[in-house]
Amino acid sequence: MTKKIERCSFCGREKSQTNVLIAGLDAHICDYCVTQAQTIIKEELSSKTKNQLLKIELQKPIEIKKHIDQYVIGQDEAKKILAVAVYNHYKRITQEPVKKEDDVEIEKSNIILVGETGTGKTLLARTIARMLKVPFAIADATVLTEAGYVGEDVESILTRLLQVADYNVAAAEKGIIFIDEIDKISRKGDNPSITRDVSGEGVQQALLKLLEGSVVNVAPQGGRKHPEQKMIQINTKNILFIAGGAFDGIDKLIASRLKTNVIGYSYGKEKKAVDNDNMLQYVAPPDLKKFGLIPEIVGRMPVVTYLHPLKRETLKRILTEPKNALIKQYTKLFEMDDIALTFDNKVMDFIVDKSLEYKLGARGLRSILEGILNDAMFDLPSDEKIKKLVITLPYAEEKFEKTNISKLKVA
Ligand code: ADP
Repeated sequence: MTKKIERCSFCGREKSQTNVLIAGLDAHICDYCVTQAQTIIKEELSSKTKNQLLKIELQKPIEIKKHIDQYVIGQDEAKKILAVAVYNHYKRITQEPVKKEDDVEIEKSNIILVGETGTGKTLLARTIARMLKVPFAIADATVLTEAGYVGEDVESILTRLLQVADYNVAAAEKGIIFIDEIDKISRKGDNPSITRDVSGEGVQQALLKLLEGSVVNVAPQGGRKHPEQKMIQINTKNILFIAGGAFDGIDKLIASRLKTNVIGYSYGKEKKAVDNDNMLQYVAPPDLKKFGLIPEIVGRMPVVTYLHPLKRETLKRILTEPKNALIKQYTKLFEMDDIALTFDNKVMDFIVDKSLEYKLGARGLRSILEGILNDAMFDLPSDEKIKKLVITLPYAEEKFEKTNISKLKVA
């Protein structure tokens, strides 16, 4: 009786032709087929996630705001306006293509957020993108230049979005782009013929093309380093653009506009007194034009809203309340070493005070906390006996004094 030759049940290779032949109940598989099967599985799974990415979860504005509330403290006006703009934007995307002539085509509503640095502009945009599960890319307007100049072409923003979308063009075309520091590319002065700031205005013109919705050739690897790469076409028609900027000095422009509007701020028929301490709340498209954004950009970003400077109370809430609040993050880090970390309430005030004193805003909270906790994070993981750490005010003060922040000049 001849011995049955063992072979791979998938490709038919004999055992001698393989490196490994794995036996199953009634079948065999060779190493070549295992490798191939793995590739197939990978592709299948990634196309599944891509399809999930395309299904946008449309939520109502109130739900959108509630979701943002979990991550962003305060800034209610901006949240409401953003929630509505995002809701409408995605309604527009999910709208059936306009067929009949009398059908209404909803236009895009890109958004401008005006507010000091560190008040949560990027966080707002990022939180919304995460909620909608759409690709999100951040671009810094200050590094963008007109084609041909040193710096990044405006199209590089789309490369980033495409990369975030894992090169899924359809997903990228429904993404959100946050353009930071849009105020830094303004032309100087309202009158273009007097002091023409070519580079800023040139970048604005280039950006305009993206905002208007056009098909753009995008280098998938980005930049000018790979001239041989095959370009990918992206239609920006349905990409939502959110721009942010501090617009330093815009309060004066708003104030002068309001004063020229006869007495006070006219609101319907009533005249309302102007709240001089918070001019940003009256920001409107003409102020952005006056600041130096070209009228076409302002026209393409019709939703304008503002963020409040962060007050003491808000900073304190930022420390503890958001879903991933700093205090929660550090508590978790210690918990992973079986140490229960707690803070005396006065320590929270101390951290906020220092952040205000050194004008570090919300970003400073993390550096200050890190400075206070660094020694403990270094020593305690090796000390099995310690299971509890209470940060008292004297402890926080002592550790803070050793940090580089404490050596900064008070601004
Ligand atoms: P901006 O874009 O306005 O310069 P960011 O959104 O980058 O500011 O904010 C910087 C950091 O400060 C955020 O990552 C976040 O940790 C914190 N932060 C700022 N504002 C808020 C806020 N309103 N609620 C919660 N965290 C905030």
